[in-house]
Amino acid sequence: MTNVAFQSNLTKYAELIVRVGVNVQENQEVFITGAVDQADLVRLVAEQAYLAGASNVHVDWTDDRLSRLKYEKAADEVFTQYPEWETAKRNSFVERNAVFISIVSSSPDLLSGIDSQRIANFQKAAGQGLQAFRRATQSDKVSWTVVAAAGKAWASKVFANVSEDEAVSQLWEAIFKAVRLHSDDPVKAWDEHNATLHTKAQALNENHFVKLHYTAPGTDLTIELADKHIWVAAGSENQNNVAFMANMPTEEVFTVPLKSGVNGYVSSTKPLSYGGNIIDNFKLTFEAGRIVKVEAEQGQETLQKLVDTDEGSHYLGEVALVPHESPISQSNILFYNTLFDENASNHLAIGSGYAFNIDGGKKMSSEELAENGVNASITHVDFMIGSAEMDIDGIKSDGTIVPIFRKGNWAF
Ligand code: ZN
Ligand code: ZN
Repeated sequence: MTNVAFQSNLTKYAELIVRVGVNVQENQEVFITGAVDQADLVRLVAEQAYLAGASNVHVDWTDDRLSRLKYEKAADEVFTQYPEWETAKRNSFVERNAVFISIVSSSPDLLSGIDSQRIANFQKAAGQGLQAFRRATQSDKVSWTVVAAAGKAWASKVFANVSEDEAVSQLWEAIFKAVRLHSDDPVKAWDEHNATLHTKAQALNENHFVKLHYTAPGTDLTIELADKHIWVAAGSENQNNVAFMANMPTEEVFTVPLKSGVNGYVSSTKPLSYGGNIIDNFKLTFEAGRIVKVEAEQGQETLQKLVDTDEGSHYLGEVALVPHESPISQSNILFYNTLFDENASNHLAIGSGYAFNIDGGKKMSSEELAENGVNASITHVDFMIGSAEMDIDGIKSDGTIVPIFRKGNWAF
C-alpha cells in the first residue's frame, strides 16, 4: 500500500469510527483512549469528531513501554488503588453524556513475566474504580465503541514470519477488511450488516429457547437462559435513542445466560490475551452456574486469578453465537486480540451480564437484574469456544429441540 493510499484508508476508518462507531452528535464531547504510537489515527478521529459537531475532544494517551515499566518498577500500592481523580474524570464525562472511543493496539503479551499478583490487583482496583463508568457502558446509557489499530508488537505476534513493517501493514489491511472499509460505501455496508445480524437475533427471540446445549470435542455444556432474555446484535441505542456500534468489527449475536443455569464443561479453541498475558488450551467446569474447576495448559495462574477476581467472576455473563464461516474466521488469522478473535468464534464471557440483554433491563436496578438471573461482576472477559466441530441445540419449554448450529455454522 502506498503511503497516500494508507492515509486515505486511515481517514476513512476515522470517519467510520466517528459516524458509525459512536455516532457523534452536535455539541457532544468525545473521550478517546489511544496509544502514543497511534497518534496519526487519534488525530484523524479527533478531526472527524469536530467535523461531526463535537464540542470538545479529550484524549487519554497510553504507552505500552510506560505501562510495562510501571509494572516492573512502581511501588506495590500503585496497583491496589485506582486513582480517585481517574474515576472522577470518567464519571464526569458520563454525566455530560460524552461518547467514548477506545483504540486498542497493545501487544497481547505485553506483561508476560510480570508478577501476576500485581496484574490481578490492578485489574481488580480498576474494575472497582471504573464500576460506575462500566455500568454506564454496559447498560447503553452512553455511546461507546472499541476499535483497533495495528501496534508494532501486536502485528509481529500475529504475522511472526515477516518483517515488522510488513507485519504492521498486513495487520492494518486485516483490520480494514474486518471493518468493511473497502466497500464502496462503508457506512451503508454497516447498515446492511447490522440488518443481517438483527434478523438472526429476531429468529432466536421468536424461538424463546429455555436452554442451549453445546457439544464439541472437549465440550458438553448446557446453558439455561433467563425467562426475559433477549438476543441482540451489532447496533445499540443509547439513553437518548441514538444508534451506535459498540464493537467494530462485530459478527456476534448474543444474550445473557441464567446465572445459576450453567452445567457441564467447555474447552477454549483460541488463545485468550488477558491482562497482558496469554491463556491457552483451557477448560472450565460448571455446576449450577459456578466455575468449579479451572484447567489451562498455558496461563493457569492468570486464568485462576481472573476467575477469583470477585464472586461474580465465578459465573458467566454472556453467550454469543458467531458462525465458523464468519469473514474474520475465514481470514484464518489468529489475532491474539479478543475484539477480533471473539468475532471469529462462538464465545462466552466470564463476569457481568449486559442489562440490555433482559427485556426492560436498561431501566432495572442492580437488584432487579439479579432477580432476573443477570450476573454482576467488576469484570467481563470473553473467551472463544467455537470450532467447525461444534453443534448447538436450542431447547424450548415444551422440550422441542431445534438445531441452532451444526458443524460450527448456523443451522437455520
Ligand atoms: Zn461477545
Ligand atoms: Zn463480551
